[in-house]
Amino acid sequence: LNRRLAEFGTTVFAEMSALALRTGAINLGQGFPDTDGPEEVREAAVRALRDGRGNQYPPGPGIPELRTAVAAHQQRRYGLSFDPDTEVLVTAGATEAIAASLLALVEPGDEVIALEPYYDSYAAGIAMAGGTRVPVTLRPSEGRFRLDLDELRDAVTDRTRLLLINTPHNPTGTVLTREELASIAELAVERDLLVVTDEVYEHLVFDDAEHIPLASFPGMRDRTVTISSAGKTFSFTGWKVGWITASPQLVTAVRSAKQYLTYVSAGPFQYAVAEALALPESYFTDFRADMLAKRDVLAAGLEDAGLTVYRPSGTYFVTADIRPLGESDGVAFCRALPERAGVVAIPTAVFYDHREMGAPFVRFAFCKRADVLREASDRLSDLR
Ligand code: PMP
Ligand code: GLN
Repeated sequence: LNRRLAEFGTTVFAEMSALALRTGAINLGQGFPDTDGPEEVREAAVRALRDGRGNQYPPGPGIPELRTAVAAHQQRRYGLSFDPDTEVLVTAGATEAIAASLLALVEPGDEVIALEPYYDSYAAGIAMAGGTRVPVTLRPSEGRFRLDLDELRDAVTDRTRLLLINTPHNPTGTVLTREELASIAELAVERDLLVVTDEVYEHLVFDDAEHIPLASFPGMRDRTVTISSAGKTFSFTGWKVGWITASPQLVTAVRSAKQYLTYVSAGPFQYAVAEALALPESYFTDFRADMLAKRDVLAAGLEDAGLTVYRPSGTYFVTADIRPLGESDGVAFCRALPERAGVVAIPTAVFYDHREMGAPFVRFAFCKRADVLREASDRLSDLR
């Protein structure tokens, strides 16, 4: 393994899912639903396969039907206009969109600011591009992980190339507020920075939280690459259909990298996702309500087990502090958890450069059936 990637090894998700399989524990580690997405969307994929649509290389930027559906979704939901021909690019999941964006936009030695804790592929993507990551830590206070805007401002230097933002935020479940996003946007404009924003959990916001795309703030549309994915919104994480929306110039740049990573991906699934994006509003409302109910089952279970819970405003992850159990090392706690309680979770420390700041936090996924979450809660209640 070369020096750029030496620190990365195997992703924590693969490691923890393997641990769950080996021990038979309930897997609340890797974030994937235990119930597949809508039947009609699966049928759409089967139909495309049978009809011979997408079984050979689809067009490089993605099939026109999907690019049109993505543009229509951004317009309908957020009032953002993107030209399906020049401002939308289909990728092999959000993961490829992240890697291709970084490979296309970062010069070796450039600094990339990312919110810490961060999704693990950000660090690897920055490293592959030869960039330097500069973490800005979200700090827990009053029940929520918060962004310190002064700290973000202070992190910008002459070498800063881009801000890598994620909202709703994995792993903390924070949804950046309108004020926070407006400040990020002002900073980006003032310092003339590019922004790559990972909004894969755009449909998973709860309570009073609202997802507002960074691209919708003044001066942002043409400096922002917005990333999303069908994996999260439609519960098909195995299909690996993602996309970006951005200015023609940025789409062309990202496509230059993308075409040498995978060239194209998963033709029949692109047809199915085009149909999924056109599902009636009730699909999205029901999906959110269902996840909200699951959040509350697991959050209550974790509270009963004695952990301090940061009830998330978005995503399908809940972060808990294990210190009330007399524990302080999340990595050791998660290693022992399958034996102790028959549950797998992810130590949040692995998403930090400042590991000590993440040490007492553990991430649990709640995109699981309610009976599974109840069983997990029962098992965890033995920890007390
Ligand atoms: N970004 C975030 C924040 C995620 O949580 C995930 C997946 N869990 C991804 C990107 C990757 O998405 P995909 O599976 O579409 O590659
Ligand atoms: N995004 C999912 C998570 O955060 C897992 C993705 C992966 O396995 N790489 O759990």
